[in-house]
Amino acid sequence: MLPIERIRLFLFDMDGTLYLGERLYSFTKELLATIRAQGKTYMFMTNNSSKSVDGYIEKLARLGIAAEEGDFITSAQATADYLLRHHPREHFYVLGTRSLLTQFAEAGLDVTDVADDRITGIVAGYDTELTYRKLDDVSRMLSTKDLLYIATHPDTVCPTEYGFVPDCGAVCEMLYQATGKRPLVIGKPEPLMPQLAMQRVGVSPDETVVVGDRIYTDIECGLRADAHTILVFSGETTHADYEAAARKPETTMEDAGELLAMLKQLS
Ligand SMILES: [Mg+2]
Repeated sequence: MLPIERIRLFLFDMDGTLYLGERLYSFTKELLATIRAQGKTYMFMTNNSSKSVDGYIEKLARLGIAAEEGDFITSAQATADYLLRHHPREHFYVLGTRSLLTQFAEAGLDVTDVADDRITGIVAGYDTELTYRKLDDVSRMLSTKDLLYIATHPDTVCPTEYGFVPDCGAVCEMLYQATGKRPLVIGKPEPLMPQLAMQRVGVSPDETVVVGDRIYTDIECGLRADAHTILVFSGETTHADYEAAARKPETTMEDAGELLAMLKQLS
């Protein structure tokens, strides 16, 4: 059972947890306001590395939620943090959007989107500006050199209003077919995003809960970070998926409205 009185940091997945597409769930505004009113912190956690945080701030504003940059933890931020910490002197080719390249440069990484002989690492993100030229460049570099190779997140598809489009994981799989190389992956289900969030806020895993609608990404990353976990059935995961899953969350809820009810009982 979730020790709700101990939780100080709430890490929310967004789509399927707080809203579905363009529809905000009825409890979301009050849930976020209640967490703040109780002196606790929430952050939005996303694997998507194609847009900067600004894109999400606009989306949430459209849905009626005021958010600022510090409220987000993204796979791009976690990747920049990881690279600065472990590989600060590498010269990276970024297989990603202009927005991702700018974010990495602003974080202090040495990055380019032009293939040259000085490149010592490749970072792949969700590249909605992908061209065959880039695939050719990356295939050549991966085939001819032993480079550091990182991907911001493993998702193979990204949902759209009509279905799905290929995401970072699918492009990396295509490159694997060509080069035999697979990247080290940073986003969910790896624990780096929750770990970075906990460090920013200054709380322990036992004071943190990850709330999400996907068992194999949201919940798995919470489990790997040793945080508390809540699976909500308001998004992708069905009860049958939950029953079949090998690794299960600490708590399940029909939706995060049940979390709001728990918090209200505290005050
Ligand atoms: Mg989700």
